[in-house]
Formats: sequence, C-alpha cells, structure tokens
Amino acid sequence: MQRILIVAPNWIGDSLLAQPLLARLQQRYPAASIDALAPAWTSAVLQRMPQLRQVINTPFVHGPLQLRQRWQLARQLRQNDYQLAVVLPNSLKAALLPWFAGIPQRAGFVGESRYGLINHLHRLDKQALPLMAERYAQLAEDPGNAPQRPLGAVQLQVDLANRTSQLQRLRLRLDKPVSVFCPGAEYGPAKRWPSAHFASLAQQLAGEGRQVWLLGGAGDQAIGEAIVQASQGAAINLCGQTDLASAIDLMSLADQVVSNDSGLMHVAAALGRPQVALYGSSSAAHTPPLNPAAQLLMPEGLTCSPCFARVCPLGHFRCMTELTPARVMRALQQLATPQ
Ligand code: SF4
Repeated sequence: MQRILIVAPNWIGDSLLAQPLLARLQQRYPAASIDALAPAWTSAVLQRMPQLRQVINTPFVHGPLQLRQRWQLARQLRQNDYQLAVVLPNSLKAALLPWFAGIPQRAGFVGESRYGLINHLHRLDKQALPLMAERYAQLAEDPGNAPQRPLGAVQLQVDLANRTSQLQRLRLRLDKPVSVFCPGAEYGPAKRWPSAHFASLAQQLAGEGRQVWLLGGAGDQAIGEAIVQASQGAAINLCGQTDLASAIDLMSLADQVVSNDSGLMHVAAALGRPQVALYGSSSAAHTPPLNPAAQLLMPEGLTCSPCFARVCPLGHFRCMTELTPARVMRALQQLATPQ
C-alpha cells in the first residue's frame, strides 16, 4: 500500500475523532502516504495532524449533489494513484468521488446503501462501538475485525512562529496564566452555556489573577462581546479575530479551557489542555473529548436531557442555566496541572 485517501468528515470535532484511524493506518501501512479530502472549514485541524501528508480541499457546499464538480475533482485525483480510500461520512455522495476516481479499494460503512460504491464494506454494530472514534477506527481494519484498542491518541502540532506573531498582532501578553473559553457551538443555541454564566466565571478567574481569552469564529463575535460586557471587561474577545489555525496555536497556551460541546472542545483535547466540557442538550456518550485531562459536566436529574435539539423545545433551557458557574469553578479547581 503506497497511497491512501481519507474522505474526511464535515465537522471539526468529527475530524479530530478520526485521528486514531489515521494512526492505525500509519501503523498498518508504514510505507504509505496518507492524504485527506476535506472541506475548507475543517482543513486547518487536519493540516496539523502528523499522520497526513497533505489536505486537499473540496469545493462542495452542504446539500446539493454537485455531480459535475465531483467528477472533475475525481479526474484530478486519478493522477495520485491511490490504492485505498477510506470514506468516513455515511452519505452516498461522499462515496461517489473515490469511485469516480477509480480507487480500487474503497472502505466505509454501508451508510446510505452504498453497495458497489464501497467495496470494503463494514457493518456498524452501534452497541459494540458506542464511540464515534471507535467507529472510525474500525475502518482501518478488515471488515469483521474490531478496532485495535487502545485507540491511538489525538494530537495536533502547534506552529510556534505563528503563535508568536498572533500574540504580537493581537497585543496579548503572557504575564498572567491563561484560561480559554469557547462560548460558541455551531450546532445551535441549545448547546451554548449562557453568556451570563461565562461572564460570571470570567470575573471569578480574573479575581484569582488569571486572564481569560474567548476563542471562536466570526459567528461567535456577538456572544463574545456579550460576555465582555457582562463581565465588565474580565475577558478578552478574540472570537472572529483569528482563523482556526491561529485559534489552535493560541489555545495551546492555556492551562485551562472551558467549552461547550463543540469543535473547539475537541481541539483542546487534541492539544492535551486541561479542560471542562459543558453538556446540556447533547450527550457525551458518543463523542466525548479524547482527553484524560477532561472533566465533563452535564445536568443532574433533568429527564429532558439530552434532547439533541438545536433550540430548547421546552423554552426554559434548564439543562444549561442550572449548570452553575460555581459548579464549573469547582471542576476547574480539580483539573490537573498541565505538563
Ligand atoms: S429540552 Fe431539556 S435538554 Fe433540551 S435544550 Fe431544553 S432544557 Fe436542555
């Protein structure tokens, strides 16, 4: 096996949960070079994975089939002479491209009845493999074989030169220990801890001599601003001021990270940061951060949780509002000191 193509997931978090699969492929095929095919919005995390040789960005948007574009990209990929494709998304369209590209061995789950398109066909036993990372890792094995355990670690490389230049550009100082908050969650508001709670926690941490950086995308800018206002300036809003690669580099300086169940939660895990992850409407059962230094907090005694809704269908949002800053503070105090 000389060349392997990974058709990567469409979410940042899922892309990180695929890293144990990459580690296992590298172990099974040490002479192979591994490329990933991914949307532009996830490529920054993939580019920081040591197992990958290159990331090829797809031009596709969510939704439409875009058959012509898939065919054109597949023609380009033919030149790379891949022998194995591992297709992580379960959609029919994700499996089209390796088939168009004539890649002889195409591994994946049956998914959307992809018989023929996938010819190294895995059947998913959800009971046996509750974790998404295990399900992905199974695709590195021959069909019928369980994933190798323990799963390989997640790990992102940090660009030290970029980190230094981002500190200068954003006029950030390292004279106080850094707590990073990630207050966004692209999935929807039902996954977001209230801004007032983040603000209260920021004030407490600032009172202990820490600085608090808010990291997130452009869509999280308003949430970040609300936290700055409510905390009376106890936090610095960096949401929308960095790209994903720079957010990774800056987060590597934090000795504690507080986040919702989001892509940046998985980035913190891959950076080995001590972290507190907040769950309300979602569950940690399938996609927990792969980080032994993580504390997971979820509602207690609330029968509606997890509901997996994007917006609270009951209107009261108790799962997150009742998860108090005091409880998060206690969890932070229990975190191990980073190496
Ligand atoms: S229904 Fe329950 S779990 Fe779902 S968002 Fe509302 S409070 Fe949270």
